[in-house]
Amino acid sequence: MGESSYSRLKQAQYHELKMTKSYSLPTERWEQRFSEAQPLYTDREALGEAHRCLYCVDAPCIKACPTAIDIPTFIRKIAEGNLHGAAKTVLSANIFGYSCGRVCPDKVLCAASCVLKDYPKPPIEIARLHRYATESFLREGRRVFSPAPPTGKKIALVGAGPASLACAHELKLLGHEPSIFEKHHFPGGLNTMSIAPYKMQADDALLEAEYICNIGIEIRMGVEVGRDIDVKSLLQNYDAVFIGAGMGGDTKLQVAGEDGPGVIGALAWIEQIKTTKRPALNGNIQRAFVVGGGNTALDAARELLQLGVPHVTMVYRRTAQVMPGFRHELDAARREGMQLLEQAVITEIVRDGPRLKGARIRVVDEEIFMPADLIIMAIGQSIGREALSKFSGVELNSAGEVQVDPATGQTSNRRIHAGGDATPGIKLVVRAVADGKRAAQAMHRDLLQSAKGGK
Ligand SMILES: Cc1cc2nc3c(=O)[nH]c(=O)nc-3n(C[C@H](O)[C@H](O)[C@H](O)COP(=O)(O)OP(=O)(O)OC[C@H]3O[C@@H](n4cnc5c(N)ncnc54)[C@H](O)[C@@H]3O)c2cc1C
Repeated sequence: MGESSYSRLKQAQYHELKMTKSYSLPTERWEQRFSEAQPLYTDREALGEAHRCLYCVDAPCIKACPTAIDIPTFIRKIAEGNLHGAAKTVLSANIFGYSCGRVCPDKVLCAASCVLKDYPKPPIEIARLHRYATESFLREGRRVFSPAPPTGKKIALVGAGPASLACAHELKLLGHEPSIFEKHHFPGGLNTMSIAPYKMQADDALLEAEYICNIGIEIRMGVEVGRDIDVKSLLQNYDAVFIGAGMGGDTKLQVAGEDGPGVIGALAWIEQIKTTKRPALNGNIQRAFVVGGGNTALDAARELLQLGVPHVTMVYRRTAQVMPGFRHELDAARREGMQLLEQAVITEIVRDGPRLKGARIRVVDEEIFMPADLIIMAIGQSIGREALSKFSGVELNSAGEVQVDPATGQTSNRRIHAGGDATPGIKLVVRAVADGKRAAQAMHRDLLQSAKGGK
C-alpha cells in the first residue's frame, strides 16, 4: 500500500469528484471554518493501529456493532495492505460504513467492548480505521455490488435519510425497484443536515448518498408524503412501503419571549451552519445559551465555541450525572470552555422591544437574570405525530413513534415497514442503517411469499 496512492487521489480527483455531484451546496459555507476533530489516518498510522488488533475469534466488537461488521477481518485486511478487501468487508455489512467511521460513537459501541482494555491498553480506534478503509473507495466511486435480476416488485420509501437509503440499497441488491420520496432537496436526512461539522461536513455526506444511489436508486426530491402524495396512492401503486421519515423539527420551550430574533431551535441552527452560506444570526455574539442536556445540545455548544463565541453556557434542568448526552462529549465541551448550569430552568426570555436581552433562569430555588445574545433550544425533536398519523393503519406508541416488530420492522399494517429515528430505540446513524437493511430483508421474504401465493 503506497503512502502516495491515496494522497495523489485526494489532490487530483477529490476536487473534481466534488464538482460532479448533482446536489450543489453553497461553495463557502459556515461549516468550512471547522477543522476535523479526527483527520483521516495516513497509511502509516492506519497500519500501526491495525497491527495492534488481536483479531479475536469471538470478537465482542462485532456483537457491539448494530450492523455486525466483521471488524477483525476488515482490520486484518488493512494490516495486509488489502484496502479494497477491507472496504468490501465494511460496506457489505454497512453501506454507510464511511459515515459510521466518522460519526459513530465508537467509544460507547464497538471500541467500548475491545478486549485490549483488559490488558490494559487503549482500545483499537475502530471508527477511524473504518473511515480509512472506505474513504478512497467512495471518492473513486468504485462499485462493489451489483443488483440481482429484476423481480418486478416496486417499493416506495418515505424519506432519504440513512434508514431509507440503507433499505433501498438492500432492496436493489435483492432485485426490487425502490423509489424514495424526500421532502427536502438534499438526500441523507440528519446525516447531511445535522452532524457536527468537525465530525463530517455536508458535502461528504452527500457524496456518500450519491455513491449509495449509484446502484440505481431513484429519489424524488421535494415530494412530501402526506402533502404532495398520499399514502393510499403509494399503497395502490407499490407492492410495499417503508417509513424512514425520522423525527420532526425542534421542540419549543413554551416560555414568554421565546418567539423573536435571537432564539432558534438547534436543528434549524445547525442546518444553517451546514448548508447555507452563513447563518441568519451572524451578529456579534458574545454570550450564548444552549438549553438542553442531550447530544444535540452538546454539539450546538461545541459548534458555538469553535465559531469563536467566547461565553457559551449550557442550561440543563437536571444534574450532569443524569444528563442524556454522552459523557465524553460533555467532557470535550467543558475542555473547550463550555460552562454548565445544572438544575436550571429558563422561566422567561427577556427582550427590549424585539431585541433579545437575556433570560430569567431558576437555578435550584433561586431566580437570576443572565444576559445573552443568542439562545439555542436543544430540548429535543418533536416526533412527527401528525405526519406519521397519515400512514393508514400504522400504530404509534405514546411517544408518537411508529410501533414495529423489532425483528422485521413490520408495522401494524403488514404492507408497511419502518425503521430509524421514526421508531423506538437509540437515535444513531448506525442503528438506522441496521433497521433499514433488516426491514429490506423482511420485505423481500414477504414479497417472495406473496408471489408464490403464500399470503
Ligand atoms: C444535531 C444532531 C447530531 C447528530 N449526530 C450524530 C452523530 O454524531 N452520530 C450518529 O450516529 N448520529 C447522530 N445523530 C442522529 C442521526 O443523524 C439519526 O439517528 C439518523 O440520521 C436517523 O436516520 P433516519 O433515516 O431514521 O432519519 P433522518 O436522518 O431524520 O431522515 C429522515 C428523512 O425523511 C424525510 N422526511 C420526513 N418526513 C417526510 C415525508 N412526509 N415525506 C418525505 N420525506 C420525509 C426528512 O426530510 C429526512 O430527510 C445526530 C442527530 C442530530 C439531530
